[in-house]
Amino acid sequence: MLAPETVPLVEPLTPHDLVTYYRCPHEMELVRASHALATGGPMGPVRTPEHVVPLRHSPLFAPPLGHLVVNEGRLDIAEKDLLVYEDDGEDDLPVLFPPDRVRPDIRFAGHNATLADPEFGLRGRPDLIVQRADGTLVPVEYKETHLFVGYHEAHGRMFDTVQVVAECRLVEAAFGRKVPYGIVLYGDEAGGGAHEGWVRIPYGDPEKAWLKVALGQIRGDRERAPVPAERNCGGCEPNERGLCRFAAARYEGPHHRLALHTSRRL
Ligand code: SF4
Repeated sequence: MLAPETVPLVEPLTPHDLVTYYRCPHEMELVRASHALATGGPMGPVRTPEHVVPLRHSPLFAPPLGHLVVNEGRLDIAEKDLLVYEDDGEDDLPVLFPPDRVRPDIRFAGHNATLADPEFGLRGRPDLIVQRADGTLVPVEYKETHLFVGYHEAHGRMFDTVQVVAECRLVEAAFGRKVPYGIVLYGDEAGGGAHEGWVRIPYGDPEKAWLKVALGQIRGDRERAPVPAERNCGGCEPNERGLCRFAAARYEGPHHRLALHTSRRL
């Protein structure tokens, strides 16, 4: 008699989980555990053990950085580019395309807008997906903040790179199309666009290999330890709610991470 087929249970992760884990694994745990609080539900389980030893840095190593291209000014949109996806859960995305070049792929509209990658166990919604004239797809992650000076040298927005690499994989898996790179678009909303810019983040075998190892590392981390530091805690949402007993600084608001080059949409 054949043994029943077993389906391996893989912890689903999102590009945003990678962002929070990259800053502080305990933040990722608390953010996920507190999702139900917004709708009046209970706090979910937190993996971090009571006597965990806090870390000085997140254990997640950085993705390959070799070929980032940093551009000042407006994002280049070519004549034959089309907008094929937009996260309708985000109401502050920039309008980059005229109406006749907005052609949403109906497979990923409405209730089906969350993209899924069963092989890597990833789920999520990029802000925008642009189809280039050659048919390749490019996810675009929008940030309200400005393109800061010294992007390459400071590596201060590495978490944006982490997020975009995961979104490239999601788009590749969901659409079944080639994704050569992703883009982080910095809109400089506070400055009226005076310091807007965008960063092109390559996506190829090295980045995909990094992502696979990173997801395995996160899933295998039994502690999800805290990384208490002002750069992390001052803008940490669970800290704002008083959920973290390891906090090294008071919550100062989301703009704290703007000053220190961090945050979700910032
Ligand atoms: S307050 Fe600090 S240590 Fe606690 S979860 Fe947030 S970033 Fe991590």
